Amino acid sequence: MLEARDLSLIYCNERNDEFYAIHDVNFFANRGEMIGIVGPSGSGKSSLLYILSGLKKPTVGTVYYQEHALEVMSYNELAEIRRKEYGFIFQRHFLINYLTVLDNVLSVVNRNDKFWRNTAINLLETLGIADFANQKPYKMSVGERQKVAIARALVSQPKIIFADEPTASLDHSNARMVMDIFASLKGEITILVATHDDSILDQADRVIHMWDGRIAKSSIPVSAIENI
Ligand code: ADP
Ligand code: ADP
Repeated sequence: MLEARDLSLIYCNERNDEFYAIHDVNFFANRGEMIGIVGPSGSGKSSLLYILSGLKKPTVGTVYYQEHALEVMSYNELAEIRRKEYGFIFQRHFLINYLTVLDNVLSVVNRNDKFWRNTAINLLETLGIADFANQKPYKMSVGERQKVAIARALVSQPKIIFADEPTASLDHSNARMVMDIFASLKGEITILVATHDDSILDQADRVIHMWDGRIAKSSIPVSAIENI
């Protein structure tokens, strides 16, 4: 489904020395798999998600989506894949402040199509934010905006979800709601999620540990072992 070979991402620090934000990483994700990505701050989790999702180009290496290399795709081809097949839940929400919540969710699909409008409204209801449908996001709390971003990530019924700390700004019960949504998607949608939230990691098929730009080890969660 998604594969990356020999990825490196090189940045310059303040003293103009080059350093590796991502260092020789190989990665694969099978269809329907949920993969947790953990590691200390600065270890490269976000950078990895950005590269795998085609939002950032690696300095070295190649990402393949369904066996097609992203680097040889045209801008439009990549944009089409991102819009139709990928869902993003990132820290910076990139919500559009002059659009209503509903229009933000509909911004990645054909907003005039009744099917998508119903899908979007159902998602807002599931997430408990249907009352905000006609409001602008800047009037909402961080947690509520996070839920709008989640609805927008899911509305197009993507094949892969890229999520960076999706529950970080949510209280326990809302985090649980998001976790239940992820659990219900497992097996159908590939989910790559950088998180410290153990209840999400317990659901993961595999957990990848990042350290200093490298994948240190990968494992299946303890709960999965207990279930064997
Ligand atoms: P190294 O070559 O330095 O050992 P790798 O990144 O190749 O580092 O692999 C380290 C560990 O992570 C190995 O156990 C490998 O199987 C595992 N690993 C590498 N890539 C993935 C991936 N995408 N998903 C799960 N495990 C991975
Ligand atoms: P994590 O998500 O695990 O916190 P990041 O991927 O955000 O890690 O960052 C990995 C490393 O790359 C960190 O040392 C970070 O400071 C650095 N970094 C991230 N973005 C940039 C950038 N645009 N320019 C320079 N360094 C960056």
